[in-house]
Order: sequence, then structure tokens, then C-alpha cells
Amino acid sequence: MKAAVLEAVKKIVVRNDVAPPQIGPRDVLVRAKACGICGTDVHIWEGDFFPTFPLIPGHELAGEVAAVGDEVDGLKPGDRVMVDPTVTCEECHFCMINRQNHCLRWNAVGVTRDGGFAELVRVPAKNCYRFENVSFSEAAFCEPLACVVFGQDRARIEIGSEVLVLGAGPIGQLHLQASRANGAAAVTVVDIVESKLALAREHGATEVVLADNALSAKLKKIAPYGFDVVIDATGVARVFGDSIQYVKNGGRYLVFGVCGPQDKVEVSPFEIYRRDLEIIGSFAIRRTYDRAFKLMERGAVDVKKLLSEAMPVEELPRGLEMMKKGTAPMKLQVVF
Ligand SMILES: [Zn+2]
Ligand SMILES: [Zn+2]
Repeated sequence: MKAAVLEAVKKIVVRNDVAPPQIGPRDVLVRAKACGICGTDVHIWEGDFFPTFPLIPGHELAGEVAAVGDEVDGLKPGDRVMVDPTVTCEECHFCMINRQNHCLRWNAVGVTRDGGFAELVRVPAKNCYRFENVSFSEAAFCEPLACVVFGQDRARIEIGSEVLVLGAGPIGQLHLQASRANGAAAVTVVDIVESKLALAREHGATEVVLADNALSAKLKKIAPYGFDVVIDATGVARVFGDSIQYVKNGGRYLVFGVCGPQDKVEVSPFEIYRRDLEIIGSFAIRRTYDRAFKLMERGAVDVKKLLSEAMPVEELPRGLEMMKKGTAPMKLQVVF
């Protein structure tokens, strides 16, 4: 089968001779149809984390069931499925305290085991969500949305709150819509690209602000006491350091965008103490895929405008370069 194989750090090769995966009794073989390219793929490509080579990346997968294992109930060839990439053991300390995203044997399709940048993918049947009402391309947004739903849970967006989203890429656009769905009275979105801000307006942003030298003054005007929740969706460490000032006293900062593992910023412990701030992390998905699936299937979150380019798997290296340079206008997907 055809697949993009990461053979070493920064060495991704598209091959036609990769052996199709063998499935176990509780597995499903999924014929990939659409698989999003994510900032995490860039980190994996660059060897920042979870590097076990060779690896077929791709964790934002939707496709069609090609075959099912002997013990699989409720799925059959031809079914259209979205795939939760998270594979946990359900036995370790963290699984037993419902923090499955910290499972000691945590695995994820396309991160630690072969994923969706391949014609055929082996996934556990229980990770498949059958859908009908959306396209494969839309369905492939369910994974980032499930991460966003977990982040929203972590940030505890309250009805009537004022939210600031930094970064208007696909993740920022999803946080914007999810914050509105959670009852935020106002969501302000910041980016350095006008077209992304225009899209944020379409997705219900109450204010959009171009990040320039006057950013601080502009945000102070919108929220003189700061925002109840600030969400970083840029993954740029400097943005985090510079934007703690925008959290209202007693408010929360959600660190959502993925920075490099070596990145450092200066923060003032005194400020966190004195202003009662909460700095909150959010890693991947914790049993939030089902709710994301419903938001997606029922149309409560709209992802139709988030795709900027669908490319064949041969062009994945170009897609990764675009993601790294920040030149992707919006989401890129590999399609089969
Ligand atoms: Zn992702
Ligand atoms: Zn576990």
C-alpha cells in the first residue's frame, strides 16, 4: 500500500510498497479518506517528542471500514468512521483515576503507532465512531475538536464569561466556536493575519484584533479588567509570556498551543500569587471524543471553512514545511 513513512528525524518518504497492517480480533482496518496535518505532526517530524522510527504519522483520521476483526460487533465494511487516536490500557494508575491521557502505556494512532497518512490503517474497533451526515474532510476535524473540548473542560468556560483566543488558525477557530457554545458572552480573537481574523468574525468572534504594537492598548479597551479566560492557540512561547497580563484577576490561562519542549519564558510568581491566576495545561484527549463527535455530527461546530488545501499523500512533505513556516492559510489535509 501507499504510505508516508517517517524513517528518521525530518526524513519522511512516501512509499508504494508498505505492507498493509494485520488486524487483531478487536481491530478494524480503515481505508483512509482524509487525514489532517497538525502542528503535532511537525513536532513528531522534527523529533521533538515520541520519536519511534519508522512511523506512519497522521492522527486526525476519517475513512471507510475495509475489514473488521472476528470479535468486532456493530461495524462492517463500508461504514464511514471517524477515529479517536487515543489508545489507553485501562489498568494503570492514571487510567484508574480517569486521567487516561496520562496512561502509563499511552499510545496514539499516528503518534506512537502507525496512523492515517497511509491507504490502510489498523485501529481498535472501540476507537471508531460511525457517521453519516458530514463529509470525510469534515469528519477529520473531530480529533482536533476533541482536544479543544478537553481544553474547554479544563478552562471551565462559564456562561457569560469573556474569553480571549490568541491565534486564529484551525485550533483558534474551534476554541472560538466552542467558547460560544459553552456560553461565553464575548470572544475576542487575536492574530497577525487579517484573513484569519475575517474568518473568526464569521465564526462568531465579537471582536477581532490584529496583533501589532498597539495590541495591549486595544485589548485593554475591549476588556479593561482583563478576560476571564485567555486561551493560547499559537504554540509560540513568547505569546504565552506576553499575554498573562490579559487575564482578569482570579481568571484562567489555558496553555493549549504546543510549544517546543525546550522553550522557556519568564513569568512572575508574584503576579500569579497576587492576581489569583490559574495557569492550566491541556494534553490531547480525555474521553472527549464522543462529545466532539456530537458537536460535529449535529453541526453545533462548523468546520466547513477550516480546510484550505487537500493534498495527495505525496505532498505531505510540502504540507509539513508549510505548517512549520506558518504559511498554511488554514487546515491542510491529506486525502486519498
Ligand atoms: Zn492534532
Ligand atoms: Zn493506563
